[in-house]
Amino acid sequence: MNQDPVIEISGLNKWFGDNHVLKGIDLDVEDSEVLCVIGASGSGKSTLLRCVNYLETFQEGSVKIKGWEVTGDEKRINKLRARVGMVFQHFNLFPHMTVLGNVIEGPTQVRGMKKKDAKDLGRLFLEKVGLSDKEDAYPNLLSGGQKQRVAIARALAMEPDVMLFDEPTSALDPELVGEVLTVMKELAEDGMTMMIVTHEMGFAREVADTVAFMDEGVILEKDAPSAMFDMPAEPRTQEFLSQIL
Ligand code: ADP
Ligand code: MG
Repeated sequence: MNQDPVIEISGLNKWFGDNHVLKGIDLDVEDSEVLCVIGASGSGKSTLLRCVNYLETFQEGSVKIKGWEVTGDEKRINKLRARVGMVFQHFNLFPHMTVLGNVIEGPTQVRGMKKKDAKDLGRLFLEKVGLSDKEDAYPNLLSGGQKQRVAIARALAMEPDVMLFDEPTSALDPELVGEVLTVMKELAEDGMTMMIVTHEMGFAREVADTVAFMDEGVILEKDAPSAMFDMPAEPRTQEFLSQIL
């Protein structure tokens, strides 16, 4: 079967003022593929991810989600955002809502689900991230790892076509990183399509189908993890990996 890619980025160019941040990016993510994006700080990884769900606008090129073009039309953007889950470095939970309240907010407000149905669904995803016992807790009582798992459950509760992660473990104390990566690994095993910006090279090696190295606004190199980590072709990739590994 010849399926459209879930994410299809072509000729993407983005400037912030005079700063040319994305320079002709072509990148596809196939159904059930896990793509990890690595690269130095400032290379454009977050901006690329944010263009995929139109948190950033761009000047040239196109982004399609399941063949659906991402454009400025507000109605389209809202529909699109409902299909693209996003998890940020800082969890952005609603502090005045319980854990379950956070998870059902999207399903009730955006998808128009009945509260009872949304709660049933929300509980499934809390179970998935191992937080069934925390549904009535408020976010400020949770550890960073727990907060990030709630953020993942909240994104999953929209039943998105694809999940985007922007350095989801970078703000966590080292001992809390593993629990979040474990949840992400399980999602990958379930067949979730994911695009993940990360500095966790061990995770990328183990879980990614493809690793893309970004450098100064271009995808310099893209390959299977073993090839990327063991024999990177580009000197810039070698240099980056030798600093980080
Ligand atoms: P990375 O995530 O790889 O660290 P970013 O996508 O955050 O890189 O940043 C890429 C470039 O875009 C940097 O030069 C950064 O200063 C610039 N940039 C990012 N966000 C903004 C913004 N909101 N306004 C202006 N410049 C920005
Ligand atoms: Mg970033």
